[in-house]
Amino acid sequence: MSEAHSPQVIVIGAGIAGLTAAHFLANARMSVKVLEASGRVGGRMTTDAVNGFLVDRGAQFLSSEYRLLLSLAAEFGLENKVRATSPWSAIVRNGKIRRMRADNPLYALTSGLLGMSACIKLGWRIWQLRQSLNSLALNDYSQWSSFDNESVSSWANRAVDSSVTEYLFEPMLHGFYFQEPEETSLSLSLTLLAFGFRRARALTLSGGIGTLPEAIASRLDVVFETPVVSIENGIDSVTITTGTSRLKADYVILAIPATEAQRLYSSGDALTGRLMATRYSATINIAVMTNHGFRLPGSLAAVYGLLIPRIERRRIVAIGIESNKNPDCAPQGQLLNIMLSDTASKSMMSMTDDAIVRTVVLEAEKFFPGLSAQIATTRIYRWEQAEPYSHIGRAKELLHYRKNGRSLDQRVLLAGDYMSMPFTEGAAESGKWAAEQICNAASNE
Ligand SMILES: Cc1cc2nc3c(=O)[nH]c(=O)nc-3n(C[C@H](O)[C@H](O)[C@H](O)COP(=O)(O)OP(=O)(O)OC[C@H]3O[C@@H](n4cnc5c(N)ncnc54)[C@H](O)[C@@H]3O)c2cc1C
Repeated sequence: MSEAHSPQVIVIGAGIAGLTAAHFLANARMSVKVLEASGRVGGRMTTDAVNGFLVDRGAQFLSSEYRLLLSLAAEFGLENKVRATSPWSAIVRNGKIRRMRADNPLYALTSGLLGMSACIKLGWRIWQLRQSLNSLALNDYSQWSSFDNESVSSWANRAVDSSVTEYLFEPMLHGFYFQEPEETSLSLSLTLLAFGFRRARALTLSGGIGTLPEAIASRLDVVFETPVVSIENGIDSVTITTGTSRLKADYVILAIPATEAQRLYSSGDALTGRLMATRYSATINIAVMTNHGFRLPGSLAAVYGLLIPRIERRRIVAIGIESNKNPDCAPQGQLLNIMLSDTASKSMMSMTDDAIVRTVVLEAEKFFPGLSAQIATTRIYRWEQAEPYSHIGRAKELLHYRKNGRSLDQRVLLAGDYMSMPFTEGAAESGKWAAEQICNAASNE
């Protein structure tokens, strides 16, 4: 093994968290290197080109409330590549498609998704919460810690009724995070209401969502195919071991999923250890590309995303319809991104691609009649660690971690979606936060 000269900061993981961290460190003129296990950047925020289609493998949407990622998109010249999706999404109730507009909550009532009494009670609760919904940051999960005392199902059943749990929170939580309301903190669920309260629009990037991490990485020193196997925290440096070398750094940002972080780093600090023990839900994304002749049913003609609540579903929890989400990604035919529930994914993870496609397309026929006869190509993306759980207590622990910041674990900082909001913007914010801690520390040394 060679003993290499090492830069001042090493970021481990070139997902959006690690790249954002490295970008802010580089901007602050710190010497920074990113070590990435795979041969590409972006992690769960990547796009594949498949026979003329652009397939978002993991993350599907940005939001007009993603302030940090939108500012990075502008900084990297992608501002005019940002596209709004169609304003229409839909949730199924009693087998029927209920069309909704996130920027107009009245559709919950007029579409028949929720009854009058549930809408009034929910509207009243939202009004009572308006200050928090309007002001707390939508990319810093620790700011929501004062709501981190109960599950969203317990709150919604008490404050409104179970229809709101079953037809609003459950399909959104499972469709976005592959998780159930009983195991999800009210903190995370209120952020979903906050996006609606602020009339946020779903956005995409015309070249696919992966173009943003690629652009950020283009100005950074990223070393590919370099999985880190262990990290040892010393008194005045950190030693990083990869398969072929040992590096020393003054600081490390560990921007990989918690499960992996826990495997290669033993922190002496109990809170850091608990955060690295965060578990993840799973999903499988089946990208179905159709022939030119395939037509969407009228009820889904302008809908960019369909959510199926647990009461109504077997395996499929969400279907993204690319022609209404980002037409640039599906220039001919349709591209459907079909996501499976956590339970279905875990039981189907080791099935062959063909078996998954056969099973899932049969189920999707219920909403897309004639689909199986019009399939041109498919791609399967298995995500064993799709999204970190937001069990009760995670927001409080994050607040504690951030307040004590570097004193907890001197030279190694954690970043990634489990260290903030469980989506791209949260992951990016956690990277920025970690970079700022290091810049502050370095300026005091
Ligand atoms: C199916 C799906 C749909 C989603 N939809 C959305 C959405 O619509 N909108 C949204 O905002 N978010 C969405 N998300 C969530 C979003 O993709 C993630 O929250 C975000 O991309 C996580 O970024 P990260 O940098 O924390 O982790 P990752 O993207 O997982 O990046 C970690 C990186 O570290 C690397 N790595 C791992 N181990 C090592 C090691 N030992 N050494 C070196 N490198 C290592 C990995 O290869 C990877 O590149 C979705 C996720 C999935 C799976």
